[in-house]
Amino acid sequence: MGDYAYYNGRYGKYPEINVPLTDRALFFGDGVYEVMLYRGEVIYQFDEHYERLTKSLKAIGISRTPEARALRSVIYKLCDLSGYSEGIIYLQISASSPSRTHERVESLTYNLLVSVSKYSGYEDKALSLITVTDRRHGICNVKSLNLLLSVLALNEARAVGCDGAVFVRGGTVTEESRSNVSILKSGKLITHPTDNYILPGIMRSNLIRAAGELGIPVIERGFSISELYGADEVIISSTTKFVRRVSSIDGHEIKMRDSERFFSLKERLLLDYFDKCDA
Ligand code: PLP
Repeated sequence: MGDYAYYNGRYGKYPEINVPLTDRALFFGDGVYEVMLYRGEVIYQFDEHYERLTKSLKAIGISRTPEARALRSVIYKLCDLSGYSEGIIYLQISASSPSRTHERVESLTYNLLVSVSKYSGYEDKALSLITVTDRRHGICNVKSLNLLLSVLALNEARAVGCDGAVFVRGGTVTEESRSNVSILKSGKLITHPTDNYILPGIMRSNLIRAAGELGIPVIERGFSISELYGADEVIISSTTKFVRRVSSIDGHEIKMRDSERFFSLKERLLLDYFDKCDA
């Protein structure tokens, strides 16, 4: 039982897997990644993650996507090795070059790194967040390895005892450093549209679908910081968090006055996970 990883054909315990200097992820963050959950024998929403991975690879000019079947078999082997009944799958694909040079020559090989770690479950505690200026590049829709500004934003939040940081670009809330942000206001779900300033989160799509099933109108538009502060509920969503509600932002208390809709949405999302995985 433990965390296991795979790198270019080799399986081993997490700390035993080394990445060579020829992997361009190291010097340039030249690659993309995905994070998925598995439970029992099922990789939850593998097809959706695979589709986004393919789009991310295309966006950064890596034209060869590993076959879904090959990825699945690596993941299953890691799940077996780890012994966890429920876990987090991290999957990274990066380019290679023989030396440190900015120029990337499209080659027939790419690096595949996959790891499996324990999933500690769905927490309920409401989060406190801060807002930070969104200084990230204009391809936030690509799940690239370049996460420096997300790391800095999270560290800034942690330094003041908060759980996360919401990016704001030109007065518009985009997303949180590791999740999407939506609000409930007067019975409606409002969420940033899927353009190049947010990652099209798989859980965000699930949330929109769940809202539709529950008869909650969905509006895909940017919203301001004052709308964020004045929301009935602020909801962050991601593969590992499902949805979490927010109790404060920049020290402003979020009223959390639409528990009914929030918990109905959350229940739907969790039920879908259990239904698909435990079937
Ligand atoms: N936005 C950002 C910046 C993220 O890093 C993530 C997840 O890592 C998400 C949104 C949520 O995406 P998903 O729901 O696919 O996990």
